[in-house]
Formats: sequence, C-alpha cells, structure tokens
Amino acid sequence: MKNILVIDKDRCKSCGLCILQCKKGLLSLSHEINKQGYHPVMIAEPDKCIGCTMCAIMCPDSVIEVYREED
Ligand code: SF4
Ligand code: SF4
Repeated sequence: MKNILVIDKDRCKSCGLCILQCKKGLLSLSHEINKQGYHPVMIAEPDKCIGCTMCAIMCPDSVIEVYREED
C-alpha cells in the first residue's frame, strides 16, 4: 500500500498551515515560484507519508489531495 500526495502547486499560497499539521515533518516550502508568485509546498520523502490527510483537511484552498494505492 502506498500513499500519494497530489499538490496543485499553482494554487498554493505558502501559508504553511499544512506544514504545521504534518506530524511526520514531511512538508516544506519549495524554492520554486508558482504562477501566483508564492513558494508552493512540497513533500520531501513521499514514501514516509502515512496518508493521515491532515494536510489536505487543513489547507484552506484545497490544494492537496491524498490517495491510497493498493498493492
Ligand atoms: S497525509 Fe499526513 S503524513 Fe502525509 S504529508 Fe499529509 S499530513 Fe503528512
Ligand atoms: S495549507 Fe494549502 S495554501 Fe497553505 S501552504 Fe499548504 S498547500 Fe499551500
């Protein structure tokens, strides 16, 4: 089983709320700049994501979606 995070980078406003919610400390702001001029959030080690969905629930702009891929 694998958890997959899909981040709609161009809609991220770099507020950081999702970063604070990730108990695994996997999220951070990237160095790239999106279409709105913000640094979008990124996941550093996707294999460590436990699929808790807290980041997606917390995002006020619904930027993040979490999927679970069965083996
Ligand atoms: S689903 Fe949970 S573990 Fe995965 S990145 Fe989001 S908050 Fe972190
Ligand atoms: S909560 Fe949403 S808008 Fe804020 S940094 Fe995370 S993905 Fe971007």
